[in-house]
Amino acid sequence: CGIMGYSGLRSPLPLLVSGLERLEYRGYDSSGVAFFDDIGALSVVRSVGKVGVLKDLVNDRVAQPGAAIGHIRWATHGGVTLENAHPHQSGPIVLVHNGIVENDQAIRIYLRSLGVECVSETDSEVLSHLIRIEYEKDGVFPEAVRRALGQVEGSYALAILCQNDPADLVVVRNGPPLILGLGEGETFAASDIPAFLHFTRKVHTMENGTIALIRHEEVKVGRLDQALSEWAPPSSLRSI
Ligand code: GLU
Repeated sequence: CGIMGYSGLRSPLPLLVSGLERLEYRGYDSSGVAFFDDIGALSVVRSVGKVGVLKDLVNDRVAQPGAAIGHIRWATHGGVTLENAHPHQSGPIVLVHNGIVENDQAIRIYLRSLGVECVSETDSEVLSHLIRIEYEKDGVFPEAVRRALGQVEGSYALAILCQNDPADLVVVRNGPPLILGLGEGETFAASDIPAFLHFTRKVHTMENGTIALIRHEEVKVGRLDQALSEWAPPSSLRSI
């Protein structure tokens, strides 16, 4: 399993697909990407099987510069199907998830009480609905992520997009690995360094319990219990 995120000045599809290929060694059964298409609509493309299948599907698609995310899934909850492949979307929120949501059944019951039914069998989909519900309260994307995760038990590496903030990528780590690569006018996030090593050698390893808001080369990192106003650029950068 693996995740990848990008925010920057390049059209992100080719570099996402090549990044996912470099994460294939981690093992997976399906894959997917989300990006802003040529008219600025948030688009999701998923496939079961090899990243090569996904590559063919997005071959004639054009992504606007800005933020985008990708995933290779190793199913833990729900079968290997297109519906269960990531990214998962709820309204303006789209995300990819590595890890396990331990209290997904309780969250499903809460969501059902609000009239929200999940369309997949994954534990991950509930995260997209929780974030969307929080986002509708104040329209502040990174704060909505933080509030939603306050209701979640389990392990996660997440990369998240919002239709209304096309340059913004929010990533969170609480368990599975997540590393940022800081480039010129762009930032990468991935489960492992090879995904972006050919673009930058300047890295920051996300600590457990931290969240980052990324807009091109601008990166702010904070703890999940810290308000957005307190987040700051990563201080522990290293060159590899
Ligand atoms: N638990 C999630 C699922 O089954 C994520 C699996 C993964 O880490 O790839 O879809």
